[in-house]
Amino acid sequence: MAKYKLEYIWLDGYEPVANLRGKTLVKDFPKFPTLKDLPNWGFDGSSTRQAEGHSSDCVLKPVASYPDPTKENGVLVLCEVMLPDGKPHPTNARATIIDDPDTWFGFEQEYFLYKDGAPLGFPKGGFPAEGQGRYYCGIGYSTMGDIAREIVDLHLDLCLEAGINHEGINAEVAKGQWEFQIFGKGSKKAADEMWMARYLLQRLTESYGVDVEYHCKPLGATDWNGSGMHSNFSTKFMREKGGKKYFEKLMEAFDKYKNEHIAVYGPDNHMRLTGLHETQSIDKFNWGIANRGASIRVPNSFVPAGYKGYLEDRRPNSQGDPYKIASRILQTIKTVPQK
Ligand code: ADP
Ligand code: MN
Ligand code: MN
Ligand code: MN
Repeated sequence: MAKYKLEYIWLDGYEPVANLRGKTLVKDFPKFPTLKDLPNWGFDGSSTRQAEGHSSDCVLKPVASYPDPTKENGVLVLCEVMLPDGKPHPTNARATIIDDPDTWFGFEQEYFLYKDGAPLGFPKGGFPAEGQGRYYCGIGYSTMGDIAREIVDLHLDLCLEAGINHEGINAEVAKGQWEFQIFGKGSKKAADEMWMARYLLQRLTESYGVDVEYHCKPLGATDWNGSGMHSNFSTKFMREKGGKKYFEKLMEAFDKYKNEHIAVYGPDNHMRLTGLHETQSIDKFNWGIANRGASIRVPNSFVPAGYKGYLEDRRPNSQGDPYKIASRILQTIKTVPQK
């Protein structure tokens, strides 16, 4: 027997953006516990905007587990929040995702690292003398500063050790702005891993006195880059059958439900989806081949392959909840007949 440190992690009830919460359960196991060994647990929902004080118990139901790379015998336990009667809590968006092992998602998370209220590397109270240009995939101290890359590289290692399927990382267009990509097969997998990757990033940056700024336009209505979470998706049907007719029907459905999509694509998106800076306007829907100014970008390979493959919805922003995004995309896809 050994003592294991089980970090139960869940999303709270804050609006419009949920926060990650976590607390530790210490428990004896004969060997490293798997998901089915992990019991349900509970927490005080009145402290997380998930219950009233007089009846405040919410249930934590483990749905995925990962080795905790920073702790001996540590386990990261990703949970759904349930009501005491066993039904999903109203804040539990994961439970609304249609289960489909053959749906694949790839999320590109952009974010800023902030220290003392400004992006890492910004001079006090102002903007860098040099505007945007050299930061995207940039190299060198005077361009990138001193600690950002250390954080970003450590984060990548932590995620890989936890078994999270990162596909890559890059420095972004603004100073102090970065991106990582996560890909997963199964309608909930990439979203689960995105929340775990966010958790590991926020926990890592605590010791640097650095915050992760997920707001989609933290520097306001300037020419400084905003942050997105482009959401790439494909179903088995899109990858294997596809076809021009189906694609056109699918895009009609995305147009029809554009407001429902925007509603779950992250707050303040009107600040980012202005029609400028490689974005479509928030109230318009369009698609375009290799078009970074479209709502949905169709990869170059898609049409030559017979309208088969994946699509990139460029509207979700960096503060979006990947559970709500995945859920909405699958709901819209479901309205389109596959014939
Ligand atoms: P860009 O910045 O040019 O949009 P990235 O490489 O950052 O490109 O992101 C591309 C994303 O597309 C990755 O997250 C990748 O996992 C995802 N992706 C690739 N193929 C598929 C697919 N068949 N289904 C869903 N997502 C996919
Ligand atoms: Mn990208
Ligand atoms: Mn990017
Ligand atoms: Mn992209």
